[in-house]
Amino acid sequence: MKSRWEQPCLECGETITNPLCEECLSEQFRQWLFSFKPKLAVSINSFKPHYYSEDKGLCIRCGSPISYCNFCVLSSFRDVVEDNAPELLERFRDSFGSLDIEKQVSLH
Ligand SMILES: [Zn+2]
Ligand SMILES: [Zn+2]
Repeated sequence: MKSRWEQPCLECGETITNPLCEECLSEQFRQWLFSFKPKLAVSINSFKPHYYSEDKGLCIRCGSPISYCNFCVLSSFRDVVEDNAPELLERFRDSFGSLDIEKQVSLH
């Protein structure tokens, strides 16, 4: 049986190592964005998984299956910030850089 963290991300195919699902990450991001851009925050759609499978890793927070890696989820958030509020990119990196996005994505 596969380890619960060995499933690939639906977007990039990399092994998912993050313990939080895309929904919980979205929630964190929305809350963060809300303090700066409330209108933009409420317009962000949830990150809906393409499918569910029982052998997926489960989110340590809500127990939902995880379908995307941190990198892909955070990249999509970064695009939102970049397109709609580029002045917040620095703050975005400060707040979400701990999730390892910095190594893989250049914010400048
Ligand atoms: Zn990915
Ligand atoms: Zn979750």
